[in-house]
Amino acid sequence: MLDYHLHLWTHEEANTWLSLDQIADYCDEAARHGVTEIALTEHLHRFTQVTDIVGKFWETTESNPVLQRSMAEYFDHHARSDLDAYVELALEAKAQGLPVKVGLEVDYYRGQMDDVGALLDQYPFDVLLGSVHWIGGWRFDDASDADQLAEWDHRHVDQCWDAYCDAIDELAATKTCDVLAHPDLIKYMGRIPSNPSEWWDRLAESAKQSGMAAELSSAGWRTRAQEQYPAVPLLERFLAHDVPMTTASDAHRLDRVSERMEDLSQIASSSGLTKFASFEQRERSMVEVGE
Ligand SMILES: [Zn+2]
Ligand SMILES: [Zn+2]
Repeated sequence: MLDYHLHLWTHEEANTWLSLDQIADYCDEAARHGVTEIALTEHLHRFTQVTDIVGKFWETTESNPVLQRSMAEYFDHHARSDLDAYVELALEAKAQGLPVKVGLEVDYYRGQMDDVGALLDQYPFDVLLGSVHWIGGWRFDDASDADQLAEWDHRHVDQCWDAYCDAIDELAATKTCDVLAHPDLIKYMGRIPSNPSEWWDRLAESAKQSGMAAELSSAGWRTRAQEQYPAVPLLERFLAHDVPMTTASDAHRLDRVSERMEDLSQIASSSGLTKFASFEQRERSMVEVGE
């Protein structure tokens, strides 16, 4: 198996560190779950370089002052590290023979992905995940923040899913990234339309049109949705469209690395999924992975 979505730091930590030992420990923990290759995919919004590019985007994408202020604080807390140092560390881990890919989890910035892509092109990434974590300035999956949670009661669930699918479609169309991370993240709080088929169709179509791969992730089991990403009917749509898949745990700390890979493996095999997408220097190849 592969674990193509891993973070070095939890969201609570503003002051971050870089350690080869930590990466070696991640590789060991992943191997215990049958994982032979990992990708380090820290959030792009952890690095000061992104704020130089996107600025205070929440002032134009969001009209609610409460959400604007919250996003300003979020970036002040998160965007403190140096992207060059992170990439150097990942390259060093790779050079030492650890089974590591150099990656990032890239957020969607409306209308700014060309600029973001130009920044990313300056680095020797193996794989870039594309993620939608916020709609305008609303962090819909931030269960630690009361203002974000309250928004779920101010909006109709169908509109939330519409806005999410619009953002995914725009992100995919920019072709900035290689893999759609947690493709149905909008289910995070367990708010799901009574018949999600229309939205599943749209997400699968966006992936197909862009040529991106998509992620089969165990992180969904840690949310109120209580299921992997993507839901099985969405996975079936991806496979029907020949969308290549990766597997991932989206762990932010060592004891969660490659968590429930065994369960993902079962879902994959019962869906007839035997080959997974691996990346080197942003080139995709399909690999067969054993148990
Ligand atoms: Zn994410
Ligand atoms: Zn993540």
